[in-house]
Amino acid sequence: MNLFEIVKYGVSCREAAERYGMEVNHYGMALCPFHNDRHPSLYVADDHYYCFACGEHGDVIDFTAKLFGLPLYDAAQKLAADFHLSPDKPPSAVALHAKRIRTEAQQLMENERLCFSVLSDYARVLRDWKVRYAPKLSYEPVHARFVEACHKLDQTEYYLDILCAGDSFERAEVVQQQMADGKLDSLRRRLEELYKEELENGYDTAGVA
Ligand SMILES: [Zn+2]
Repeated sequence: MNLFEIVKYGVSCREAAERYGMEVNHYGMALCPFHNDRHPSLYVADDHYYCFACGEHGDVIDFTAKLFGLPLYDAAQKLAADFHLSPDKPPSAVALHAKRIRTEAQQLMENERLCFSVLSDYARVLRDWKVRYAPKLSYEPVHARFVEACHKLDQTEYYLDILCAGDSFERAEVVQQQMADGKLDSLRRRLEELYKEELENGYDTAGVA
């Protein structure tokens, strides 16, 4: 194995991020060091990272290179030194296999957790809209948010049920479907916007009252 392979198999993105001073929360999210991030936008998986805000992504070597402004080879050397790996002592095939299996299982779990967290936020918003924007008078035009709540709430709760109680195949299917075409990603961003809006409105009413 060459240095790149040894480092990639030997160190996860999360281990590197934590070692280099970043805090990764239990959803695998961290403040992105590559843009001015105020809410954790960086998703740190074992074998890759991805920033939902600035789009920065790559593997553990890209991460270290970018973080320290190093060429890729130097970044790999730094990782090997910091994590005590060397081409003379490559991790054994058995250890690698175990690590890869664990990594895939963890990745699935992380995706599930992310999916669950975004969908439960969305369901909370929809439940609120269903009440808040319900037409009070019959001649009132129906608010788009009320319509969205009526259309999407049952579906979202159905997905959440599967993520809670479904078997691994059903859960994987929901996650795959939600993550396809950046759907979950855009929903997450939209929820962030809504959250900001809520905060601003909250301040407005506080100011008026
Ligand atoms: Zn970023």
